[in-house]
Amino acid sequence: MPFIASWTSESAEQPEVVQRRGRLAYLNERPYDRDGDGILWRRVPSSPGKGKPQYGKVHFLRQRQAMGGLLCQVCGRPAGHDSDGDGLLWLLGDAPDPQGACPSELVTGHPPVCLACARQSVRSCPHLRQRYTAVRVRRFALSGVHGVLYRPGFPSPVPYEVGGLDFGDDRMAWMQAAQLLMRLDQFHAVDLESEYQVLARRR
Ligand SMILES: [Zn+2]
Repeated sequence: MPFIASWTSESAEQPEVVQRRGRLAYLNERPYDRDGDGILWRRVPSSPGKGKPQYGKVHFLRQRQAMGGLLCQVCGRPAGHDSDGDGLLWLLGDAPDPQGACPSELVTGHPPVCLACARQSVRSCPHLRQRYTAVRVRRFALSGVHGVLYRPGFPSPVPYEVGGLDFGDDRMAWMQAAQLLMRLDQFHAVDLESEYQVLARRR
């Protein structure tokens, strides 16, 4: 069961939103509803292991922990724990351009993976092998959040767009954030199997 997947016990009704001091707020807001930058986050109960796993559904709080703490999205351990330090591994959801062209930077909501979990995921799923590219990333930075953007409305703010916003964007005051986004600045495609063999030989 992937670390960032949700369990059926972890769904909850979202609190009522209001406009307060010119920004989106919860009617009964608590201090931990916002992060240190004042960004409003979705409330997510945490009870992993209870109920049934929901493989395709991301648990927003664990996504945030994994992305912010650079934890493997599958096993929850530090993503670099079994690598040689030449950047961290990401499995990117789009197959590379057949011409070999690669975008120079990329923003993703997927946390990194450790080598063992990346290899295991790709091995156990041939479908994944075709659709995903494994990259090693030397330079990366948290760049923003993904969530629901609201606009002022009466009697309450109105949700109007689901998407990502960069940190520092003026519209952040109207964002209900759900996931952290990472910008990958410098990366190259790698072959998981050969990386794993190299690592195995070194040990
Ligand atoms: Zn792992």
